[in-house]
Amino acid sequence: MQDSLQNIVEPLLQWYAVHKRELPWRRDREPYHVWVSEIMLQQTRIEAVRRYYERFMQALPDVASLSRIPEDDLLKLWEGLGYYSRARNLRKAAQIIMQDYNGIFPRSAQQLRKLPGIGEYTAGAVASICFDERVPAVDGNVLRVIARVTGSRENVLLPETKKAVSARLADIIPEQAGTFNEALMELGELVCSPDGTPDCTHCPLSAQCTAYRDDLTGELPVRIKSVRRRREDKTVFLLITDDGRIAIEKRTAPGLLSGMYQFPNTDGFCTDGQIAALMEQWQFVPSEIRFIRDAKHAFTHIDWYMKGYLVRGTNSGGHFLWVSPAELEQSYPLPTAFRIFL
Ligand code: SF4
Repeated sequence: MQDSLQNIVEPLLQWYAVHKRELPWRRDREPYHVWVSEIMLQQTRIEAVRRYYERFMQALPDVASLSRIPEDDLLKLWEGLGYYSRARNLRKAAQIIMQDYNGIFPRSAQQLRKLPGIGEYTAGAVASICFDERVPAVDGNVLRVIARVTGSRENVLLPETKKAVSARLADIIPEQAGTFNEALMELGELVCSPDGTPDCTHCPLSAQCTAYRDDLTGELPVRIKSVRRRREDKTVFLLITDDGRIAIEKRTAPGLLSGMYQFPNTDGFCTDGQIAALMEQWQFVPSEIRFIRDAKHAFTHIDWYMKGYLVRGTNSGGHFLWVSPAELEQSYPLPTAFRIFL
């Protein structure tokens, strides 16, 4: 197996020299740029990240500015990217870099790995791309390419499989470690696509590829999910006063979307009677209650099924923060799960 991987190095590097995409975070090998982009790319597609990345860099051009930004402003800047713990960890790590490393980015994968939010993959990506440390950076793209090239039927969702692929790659990584890792990921993105229709006839590895030779591209990689998803039902209320102010509140409990803002909501789907009781409890006197829509939002292991209601009326209590639509847009991070109802 090792031999078959050794001979992917040259064709891959040659292919990448020609086909590498120009991306904003590839303009230089500045660790701050590479790090932020890698974190954004973890759960978001490249095209979406392009927009957010430029905006983020304008607001926070370096580690020092990231370490100083108030959490609310940071979450606002991250709005739309989802998985907000990524943003919080970025800031925490920036604070550690300022305090413990005098603002200078740690260079080795081992040191990077100790920072919040930086796992094996990101540490490998930053250390290899920015400092050419010969360490692998194994993401879903890399796992797919290697499973197909080697014809492996190991479940790529298992940590042991990732470990084994990392070990195999560690043995063949050339001196241009960053370029090699980027090339492998780029091939997975552009050519060896996940949907069973990779562009094998234009692939630099087709001569070495078991899946191509044996017509197994539809079967590989093997992905067997073991996580059970949980369903949560919610009723969400867009409370609007006669002068157009909207009720929001901060999610203070630790966990999902902590620190973000939300529209008032309650667990379960409410009956008319329950809605009336809630309005009384919130001291909101409705003049109109209207069902808006059903919506579903998927988090990593939880699916929210929501029913949204628009309630117009008069606020006579101290519940909630009442903001104008412009204030909501500018100053309060509102997750996509709630934005659906706007
Ligand atoms: S030949 Fe096809 S299946 Fe094999 S690595 Fe290339 S694109 Fe992927």
